[in-house]
Amino acid sequence: MNIHEYQAKELLAKFGVGIPAGIAALTVEEAVAAAKQLPGPLYVVKAQIHAGGRGKGKFKELGADAKGGVRLAKSVEEVEAFAKEMLGNTLVTVQTGDAGKQVNRLYVTDGVDIASEYYLSMVVDRASSRVAMIVSTEGGMDIEDVAHNTPEKITTVTIDTAAGFQPHHGRAVAFALKLTGDLNKQAQKIAKQLYEAFVALDCDMLEINPLVETKPDSSGAANLLVLDTKMSFDSNALYRHPDVQALRDETEEDPAEVEASKYDLAYIKLDGDIGCMVNGAGLAMATMDIIKLNGSFPANFLDVGGGATKEKVTAAFKIILRDPNVKGILVNIFGGIMKCDVIADGIVAAAKEVNLSVPLVVRLEGTNVQQGKDILANSGLPIVPANDLGDAAKKIVAEVKNAA
Ligand code: ADP
Ligand code: MG
Repeated sequence: MNIHEYQAKELLAKFGVGIPAGIAALTVEEAVAAAKQLPGPLYVVKAQIHAGGRGKGKFKELGADAKGGVRLAKSVEEVEAFAKEMLGNTLVTVQTGDAGKQVNRLYVTDGVDIASEYYLSMVVDRASSRVAMIVSTEGGMDIEDVAHNTPEKITTVTIDTAAGFQPHHGRAVAFALKLTGDLNKQAQKIAKQLYEAFVALDCDMLEINPLVETKPDSSGAANLLVLDTKMSFDSNALYRHPDVQALRDETEEDPAEVEASKYDLAYIKLDGDIGCMVNGAGLAMATMDIIKLNGSFPANFLDVGGGATKEKVTAAFKIILRDPNVKGILVNIFGGIMKCDVIADGIVAAAKEVNLSVPLVVRLEGTNVQQGKDILANSGLPIVPANDLGDAAKKIVAEVKNAA
């Protein structure tokens, strides 16, 4: 699950991490009121969408010259003007895809006098079974290019969660950021705070880009602040964090995926034209692979789980068919816990209920497979039976090509 920048910053602040003051706004009036509460004279109006690259993004409605989703405002009037431009419009960034995302929330925040922009992120690194902290002196809007063109400018520090964050991790991070004196100490501290937040909140990704060093104030003091952050959580651990769960913004998610989660179906929408309904994540992955091997692309990943009831199968069909790209469906079910005849009954009932209008290939294997096949054959529906995975993939690809 992802959350918005302002929500992530509020969570991080509880761990002592320095963030600029800011207030979220749903309307232009709220944005103006927010600016009036901030000290000024510089404000930044930031589009809140679940995607990065906002600064370099473009609003569909505003033409090629318009600025992106992060705007520096020099007055409350400018905050108002930018809020009007952004709210309700569609921001397209490198991370949103061509469709873009509608901006429904803004974050009005203090403008910071930036001396340097750094990069710091954390992920669960499966290869090392540790948390990997990835840092670079080259933070800001071009970090992807840095990773691609000059990977030597990126340092990875891995932390064993059993032992936790040690002082040497902090020193390694501060050293990699080439910081000295007080800023070096601040980097060690903030790295520790961010690690603690990451573990305590069961994050699976936390990215700070940029982490900034401010220009020295009148007393000569400079600070490290989190200027932008993206945070995502391990869904399997969300039950431990009702406060985090409450931050979910379903309007940012694919409606079909939201619907699927209500039925406890693991569904991810993809770009192809063959809908897949499979039980078991591994079998679902193999099914997508074999569709590709046969020259087509899956329209989705869908794991209906071990106990695929008629209700679940019906919901799954409906969700697959919401996608207008779907030209055919491949059902690949292994009847282990569930018996094939029960599954076949479910498929037939569901296909009738949704008035299935695209080709349907079904491969069943496991307990009571013959009864299952008989039910499909006697259903009166144009269901194409398949004997194994390879056969099933060939048949659905051919059916869709013939229908085209
Ligand atoms: P995104 O990564 O989605 O483009 P950021 O929040 O990182 O959005 O903003 C892009 C750039 O805008 C930052 O790299 C920074 O240079 C500038 N910026 C963002 N927030 C502020 C702020 N509060 N004060 C000054 N500059 C900012
Ligand atoms: Mg950023």
